[in-house]
Parts: sequence; structure tokens; C-alpha cells
Amino acid sequence: MRKLIYILTLAGIVCVQVSAQSPPNSPEELQRYVPVLPSVKARFWKTDPSVGYAVQGVGGGVYVISDNGWQSAFLVTNEGVIVFDAPASFGKSIPSAIAKVTDKPITMLVYSHAHKDHIGGSAAFKNIKDLKIVALDTVTEFLKEMNDPNRLIPNVTFTREKTVSLGGQTVELTRHAYHSNEGDLFIYVPKARFLMAIDCVTDGYVPFQGFDITANFHEYMKVFDELLTYRFETFVGGHLTSTGNRADVKLNKEFTMDVYNTVKRIHNNMDFAAAIAEAVKTVGPDNEFLLFKVFLDKVTYESVKELRPRWIKRLAGVDVWLESHVRTALIYVRWDDN
Ligand SMILES: [Zn+2]
Repeated sequence: MRKLIYILTLAGIVCVQVSAQSPPNSPEELQRYVPVLPSVKARFWKTDPSVGYAVQGVGGGVYVISDNGWQSAFLVTNEGVIVFDAPASFGKSIPSAIAKVTDKPITMLVYSHAHKDHIGGSAAFKNIKDLKIVALDTVTEFLKEMNDPNRLIPNVTFTREKTVSLGGQTVELTRHAYHSNEGDLFIYVPKARFLMAIDCVTDGYVPFQGFDITANFHEYMKVFDELLTYRFETFVGGHLTSTGNRADVKLNKEFTMDVYNTVKRIHNNMDFAAAIAEAVKTVGPDNEFLLFKVFLDKVTYESVKELRPRWIKRLAGVDVWLESHVRTALIYVRWDDN
């Protein structure tokens, strides 16, 4: 009997070691993911293969640039052009893309937040004379500390709100805290009914990993109502295939609140001792980290099992990121929530 246990234990160790060592995402695993929803695929932009991006006017002097991975935008006025973000992927092409639309000079570059992928192409603007680079004070402090040659240091900073006027147009910039540690901007062009808020809503899709790698899920849950107080028709969230609208923001809110409420209910109703009882039989009560993991994994599993069928046909990427969303919501429910 003892020998049998020994062999089984050894087999278990070998099994754990093998599974820990086998790389993820084998072809068989990848084939289990659902393809991007046809309704979302229909919204992909046709990028020009010679440059790798597309430019679309969305009215009121605003143009959106996308390479179907990242998005930025610019506003053309009588006195010059204001650019919103310069992504690492196509930032170097923005000045030439603008020159195809207007002969007005680029006078201002606004940073939505500090992340490299959205402003890491700003070096292309280095030689533009008298360029104003506008960002939150906390973003500027962070960029000074990073000293990254790909992210030019802002020369106009503010703390909470700033209204920029140029050539009869205004742009309203407002601080929020839904995503990055250094703060996030809402960028609003009232005359164009245009609203840009990067890394919160990706129209047609669930948010990226962990609710768009939010540093603050509490604030993230508020962002949808904050967006919906604006009068906008075009929404730019900074990623993937197309521009969004109010319905996209509302759908993302519904998804987010469903994840939060489901995780909260399952977590709060789960008996910790009962959830770990099987594991205790196997490994005993001493390895508390492991037993806590067993509990968190069980809440996560039950939550994903319930949520997946509700959302798999409504938004793209549910099977890619839902577990990460559940884990982000679970951290909030367990450690912050009432
Ligand atoms: Zn970001």
C-alpha cells in the first residue's frame, strides 16, 4: 500500500512538473478559441498596405488614424492641427498622414496617458518648431523620470482640467483615473461630438486583459457613466478595428457590471472551508498559500462557467480574456469591496 502511494505521489510530481514545463498555446489549444465575431470583422478598417494604416474623417474637423491595432486622432483647424496620441506602432507616419489631409502645421500634441504603446511614436514630432506637448502633471513627472527618447517630455502640463482653443475649435481635457497609475485623459471635441478615452472600451470586444490592465478597478467601473455624460457620437478607445459610439460604451458597462456582480455573488456565497476540503485531504492544512489559491481558483472557475455562455456571442475575445477579468474583479471584491 505504502509503495502504491509512493508511486502515485511520484506520478503526481512528474505530472505537475511536466504540466509546469509544457509551453502554453499548442495548436490544439489555439484551435479551441472562437474566431472573431463576423459582426466585428465587418468593422475592420481597410488599411493601405503601402503605409500600414488608414485615416478616416469623422466630422467636425476630426480624423482618426488606425492600423487595426492602435488608434490615434487629429483635429484640423484654421490655425493648425492638434494631434491626440502618437502610438509606437505608427506614430512615425502621423506627420505625413496629416500632410495628405491639410497643409496646416502641427501645433500641438496631446498625450492621453503615459503608456509607451500610445505615445511611444512621439519622437517623430521632435523637430516640429514651437510644438506644444500637453499632458497631465503626473504624466510629465513620470516621463521625466523615465527619460525615454521615444516619449518626448511635455512642455504644457495641468492637474485636473484644461480647455485648448485653436482656430475656432475647442478641446476639453479632463483627468480620470480608470487605467494607468499616472492618470488618464478624456479628450473631447464638442463641435465634432468626438470623445476619446484610451484603454477602457474596445468597441465590439471585451476589454483587454484584466479590464484593460487597469490599475484601479474601482475607478474603471465608474468610467462608463462618466463617458455617457458627454454628448458624443464618435468614440475612440485606442485599439483594434473601428470607432465606437454610445451603444459600445453601454454594452461594455453591462459586461463589466455583470462580471463584477457575478464574481461578488459567487465569492460571497462560497464557504472557504468547504471549498478547500478536498485539497486539505491531499496536502494537509499547512500550505496556506496553496489552499488560498484553491479557493480563489474555485471562485474564478465558477464565475467563468456562468459568465461565458452569457457573453460569448455578444462580444469578441470573451474566451481570451474573461478569466483575467474575473481575477481582477475578484481581487477588488475580496480586498476592497464592502
Ligand atoms: Zn494604456
